[in-house]
Amino acid sequence: MPRFGAFTLLTHCRCGRPVPFNRPALDARCDGCGANVQVLQGILTDLLLFLDNEHDRMADGASSRRSWGTGPSEVSASYARMPPRCDRCGATTPVDLPEGSERDLSCSGCGEAVHIAPPPQWMRKEVPTAQLLYTAVARADHSAAAAPANVAVGSASVLSCPKCGGTLPLHGDLERVIRCHFCAADVFLSDEVWRGLHPVRRVRQWFVRFDGITMEQRERDRREARLRAAADSTGDAEALGLEPTKTSRATVKARRRAFGIALIVLSVALIGGGVALLAGGPVVMAPVLAGIVVFLVGIGLVSS
Ligand SMILES: [Zn+2]
Ligand SMILES: [Zn+2]
Ligand SMILES: [Zn+2]
Repeated sequence: MPRFGAFTLLTHCRCGRPVPFNRPALDARCDGCGANVQVLQGILTDLLLFLDNEHDRMADGASSRRSWGTGPSEVSASYARMPPRCDRCGATTPVDLPEGSERDLSCSGCGEAVHIAPPPQWMRKEVPTAQLLYTAVARADHSAAAAPANVAVGSASVLSCPKCGGTLPLHGDLERVIRCHFCAADVFLSDEVWRGLHPVRRVRQWFVRFDGITMEQRERDRREARLRAAADSTGDAEALGLEPTKTSRATVKARRRAFGIALIVLSVALIGGGVALLAGGPVVMAPVLAGIVVFLVGIGLVSS
């Protein structure tokens, strides 16, 4: 049975802008300053494993939060037990796709694009149960990346080169400094223009399908196997006669006691016989003496 998790991840750029990681990638671009913001692979791995390991103990729809680090570089994340669904209209996304599928789907409810892809190499190594990633392709992201040159940017719908007055090519994925086609001047885009080109992205959920034995279960199995192996080796010790010493000692003791009791019975017979003969004649002290010796030996064996 596949397991599904919904995730969000948010951190901040050095410039102070929030940077949502709207897919399980190791870096994302800051919309404020264009910087490349990175998240440690270990954080993403932990996040995925939290959900996958806790999944069976979580109620459907239950969620949890985690954070790493403090201050502006803090990474905060959430995970929930939830199958993939459109975060605009709530419609469910098909989940019965074969492992390794890569395709773009449109939400059946609102047409929002969803990208489905196998996990990247590092994730397959760190979280082998992760099978498929479902990421929303936001319209804002889409338009910013695919917008034609000269998008409307508020009042500065067309930006002119401050040196020659030529029209500067503006589109969503340009650098903060652009070169004028006409005079080759380097023009630094103002914050206003830059923000107009890169509206703040909202935090969006992305989803992961997991399947197979969880890392936690695998660790538990390994521990149990170790215990079983240890128990088995104790059994071997018993077979080798290390453990059963106690039992055999008890057996020896019981046998010795039985022999002692037999001797006591014999001694009684000897003494009894000797005494009976004694009544008839004087030369029969031997059986009585022998009986006494046998009795003492028997008592000794029984009490040992
Ligand atoms: Zn920034
Ligand atoms: Zn939708
Ligand atoms: Zn110019």
